[in-house]
Amino acid sequence: MNTAGLSRMEVVEGDITAETTDAIVNAANETLLGGGGVDGAIHRAAGPGLLEACRELDGCLPGQAKVTGGFELAARWVVHTVGPIYDALSPEDADRLLGAAYVNALLAAAEAGARSVSFPAISTGAYGFPQDRAARVAVLSVARALEMDDRIELVRFVCFSPEQAQLHQAAMDALRKL
Ligand code: ADP
Repeated sequence: MNTAGLSRMEVVEGDITAETTDAIVNAANETLLGGGGVDGAIHRAAGPGLLEACRELDGCLPGQAKVTGGFELAARWVVHTVGPIYDALSPEDADRLLGAAYVNALLAAAEAGARSVSFPAISTGAYGFPQDRAARVAVLSVARALEMDDRIELVRFVCFSPEQAQLHQAAMDALRKL
């Protein structure tokens, strides 16, 4: 495939709250009022101002995205998105909704003014998405979105385990060969 998008994507292993990209993406729930996993880690690192800002947003539907400031984070913006609960849908619908969460988070970040964005592996924790399937959807949907939009210069997939990083890297390698 056209590698214009892939050349602006990288995989790292680490804690997304330490990222210095313009924006980081939060895998939130529909209330946007905080939760466990990466959501809890982001709220703890950003401080109480983030929850106050989220209260103004009136929640978020799966596949959509809303932006706040980053408060005590290094990132200037947090893009809150909600991934699908894997078992609640057919696998195809779950893929579509997960892809929408990535693309809409990327577009919301670009709209806010971000040029670099870090993503966690949305829906792969409490929401139960199989890690390999989610990595393929994440990489494909971001690569396609970057091809059509040159505002974002860098997307980092910030993986929380070596296995997760390997799956994202393998998905990128497979796309490059198409
Ligand atoms: P979801 O409800 O969308 O499944 P979770 O927060 O439960 O969200 O999990 C999403 C992914 O985020 C999981 O793979 C989890 O290991 C990962 N994760 C948890 N904490 C962090 C962190 N601090 N930085 C990056 N990724 C994280």
